[in-house]
Amino acid sequence: MTDIDRHATSDGTVTTTDLLVGGMTCAACVGRVEKKLGRLEGVSASVNLATGRARVSHPGTVSPQDLISAVEGAGYTAQLPPAEKENGEAPGTGSPGATGPGELQRLLITAALSLPVLVLSMVPALQFTNWQWLCFNLTAPVVGWSAWSFHQRALKGLRHATATMDTLVSLGVLASFAWSTYALFLGGAGQPGMRMPFSVLPGAGTGSAHLYLEATVSVPLFVLAGRCLEDRAKRGTGSALRALAELGARDVELTAKERGRRIPVAELRVGQEFVVRPGEKVATDGVVTEGNSALDLSLVTGESTPAEVGPGSAVVGASINVGGLLVVRATAVGADTQLARITRLVTDAQAGKARMQRLADAVAGVFVPAIVTVACTVLGFWLGAGADGAAAVTAAVAVLVVACPCALGLAIPTAFLAATGRGAQLGVLIRGPEALERLQGIDTIVFDKTGTLTTGHMTLAGTTVVEGVSADEVLRLAGAVEYGSEHPIGRAVTTAARQAAEGGKLPPVTGFRAVPGTGVSGDADGHRVAVGRPRDRTALPKVLEQALDQAEAAARTAVVVEIDGRPVAVLAVGDTLRPGAYAAVRQLRKLGIEPILVTGDSPVAARAVARQVGIDEVHASITPEGKAAIVADLQADGCRVAVIGDGVNDAAALARAELGIAMGGGTDAAIGAADITLVREDMQAVVAAVRLTRRTLSTIRANLAWAFGYNVVTVPLAATGWLNPMFAALAMSGSSVLVVVNSLRLRACSPTPRGSASRTTLALEAAR
Ligand code: ADP
Ligand code: MG
Repeated sequence: MTDIDRHATSDGTVTTTDLLVGGMTCAACVGRVEKKLGRLEGVSASVNLATGRARVSHPGTVSPQDLISAVEGAGYTAQLPPAEKENGEAPGTGSPGATGPGELQRLLITAALSLPVLVLSMVPALQFTNWQWLCFNLTAPVVGWSAWSFHQRALKGLRHATATMDTLVSLGVLASFAWSTYALFLGGAGQPGMRMPFSVLPGAGTGSAHLYLEATVSVPLFVLAGRCLEDRAKRGTGSALRALAELGARDVELTAKERGRRIPVAELRVGQEFVVRPGEKVATDGVVTEGNSALDLSLVTGESTPAEVGPGSAVVGASINVGGLLVVRATAVGADTQLARITRLVTDAQAGKARMQRLADAVAGVFVPAIVTVACTVLGFWLGAGADGAAAVTAAVAVLVVACPCALGLAIPTAFLAATGRGAQLGVLIRGPEALERLQGIDTIVFDKTGTLTTGHMTLAGTTVVEGVSADEVLRLAGAVEYGSEHPIGRAVTTAARQAAEGGKLPPVTGFRAVPGTGVSGDADGHRVAVGRPRDRTALPKVLEQALDQAEAAARTAVVVEIDGRPVAVLAVGDTLRPGAYAAVRQLRKLGIEPILVTGDSPVAARAVARQVGIDEVHASITPEGKAAIVADLQADGCRVAVIGDGVNDAAALARAELGIAMGGGTDAAIGAADITLVREDMQAVVAAVRLTRRTLSTIRANLAWAFGYNVVTVPLAATGWLNPMFAALAMSGSSVLVVVNSLRLRACSPTPRGSASRTTLALEAAR
């Protein structure tokens, strides 16, 4: 492996480059940028409107500069993202499309200018002499200043022969303002004492005396308001993505010389040696100095078959150790390796695009040109049919204004952004929109036991030894071997052994091997030591068999210690139920999701835990492959399965399931294989995730139905002259605001049904 230094985002000859794209305002823009990039040889791109990012995969023959030129050719700006600083801003917040405080100021000033115009135009009783001239003077800066960015972008688009939402806004504003100006100066509306009756329908008969200043101001006002709201939602999500990125940044344990000393990965220096346990991520690029194992590179290169490594092998940071204990000497640290991984995680979350979003993008791509055509046709038709010029212009302007597809562009991204943000607050980190989509249809959830339904903070509860063997000695050897294990059992045994041993010293171990879901083995003090799942109970000495039964009946996990092939002791480790586990199981059932317990532990211990949390279906003594097989069986029966687990032994099942959920305190292997990570101790986060997903998807459906349905109704109305341009503007902007507000409601989504679970329980008990 000589090419380990390659950047984490490059894969073979195809490179992935992220671009910050500025000037995108709607789904139509997304389609255009993607199409333009896609025309380059061998290039494919996924653009996210909400974050203003394009993720482009391209061959080495195409340079980032080519990509930027292509995007600029489509009428947008593009730049490479600034090298992310270590505790840098979340990329989403820095996107050029984002609105800053300046934007809010612009909105407020626009509102101050627009409100008098709106009120005066709508309430004839307030129309004092020459009111129309005041309105005209207030409207002019809105057209020239507030809507300036729309004109600018529309013009830019025009130069590249493209039409966007900005085109519609700009055309609508200019046309209605031009018409009003004409009416004021030449059409007789400028007479002192002019009154304008208020009507929903365009004033028939009022002819050229009618003004549309209210339409002129309301379009930019409402569009700007919509964008500011959208921006707020975006900023909330920035923190969610940051949290996701930080989850990968773990600490690292230095070797024997500084035994037990854990330091943050960022402090690791070249030349230092560190320990990599099974299931852990290799902290940084390095060379193996001790141990044999296999590494899963799928997070780094997408390569799915694990690579065997031994002393002298180069290892890549962020690959996952799936076999034995390794000692690695760091050869590179910092920006290249560590940050590459963070960037990847974050951009994956951003660039992922849901199926529904693609649909909306495709529709918007043809929508804008179609509407401009309709507006021109309407104008031509009315004029050709001999209608009054005012009526013809009115209808055309109304079509332009009412059809701005802002609501369509906002329907999905705002909902996802609000949901990811809310999810982070609830302790649910969602990797991408697809995860939300998949979680929705889930009807079965498979729970792991140790570390998932239980806290995983295990302690040694009892040691039973056969005649003639010292309990302390057994514990010392078992603790030494378990030192290399990442499993909660291993940690419990090692901690107890250190406490019992003189000076906390445990003998060194060679030939360490971990078998997920079974146990560990190694050589210490000249003995072959194995700690793990009891294999053949009946072959055990009577005392040990009894100890096993007793421990398991008390819902403890019991493991057998073998020294030189002879079973000599039973260690019972105790664990406590995770808070909220019982309530979570009950609420999942209410949501129509059947919980199942699948564990590698013994049937007795498994059933004891299942009883405590209220799960009926239990599969015990299951190997890691068995867990994945159970998931496959359930899927074959037509179930849609989610798996929730923490360990290396769960990774296969997590990946096999429709949806994998990892416990935040779990191993990197589990987190890497999962779509969602729960970073709260409380198991109710699962319920929160399910509820949030269902709410999100119903929000999106409502948003889309509204955004599409509204155009179906309003465009024909406007085209036939039945809609006053002001109402068109109000309806259009109102629909965008409605969509954004509807999405923002997700941020108030409560984690559990009707208040906290404990309150519900209390209420139920009080009722009895
Ligand atoms: P779960 O599915 O409940 O998370 P695992 O599959 O991780 O449990 O483990 C299954 C069984 O394998 C444990 O109950 C234990 O008997 C044994 N085992 C796993 N890892 C170890 C270890 N490090 N030390 C001793 N026993 C272990
Ligand atoms: Mg587990």
